[in-house]
Amino acid sequence: MQGFSVRTGSRTEFIDITSEVQQAVSASGLQEGLCMVFVPHTTAGVTINENADPSVMNDLRMELNKVVPFEDGYTHLEGNSAAHLKSSMVGCSCMVPVEGGRLALGTWQGVYFCEFDGPRTRKVWVTCR
Ligand code: ZN
Repeated sequence: MQGFSVRTGSRTEFIDITSEVQQAVSASGLQEGLCMVFVPHTTAGVTINENADPSVMNDLRMELNKVVPFEDGYTHLEGNSAAHLKSSMVGCSCMVPVEGGRLALGTWQGVYFCEFDGPRTRKVWVTCR
């Protein structure tokens, strides 16, 4: 298993980790198979979406923050329930096919680390089989 760290800079943030994931695939030597990207955190996630126009990820962040407000009478004493909810909505893993040693992403797709309770230093695990 390969892994790398992500340093996030704000409370809610999406960081393009496509090149780091590709580096992990290359280091694994996998030519054909599956790459699983897994985030071992309960207040973060990972998703695949458009990496051409940054306004797409801005809109996603804006709407997630509307759907799940930071304060809403939550009972979780740590005070970061919104981040836990967004983590479950987005999910903590994604799978990408690998062809010819490369992530077989669509032209406009990128892999995004999703920070919901930053800033923090986070981990990403990449399993290639
Ligand atoms: Zn918590």
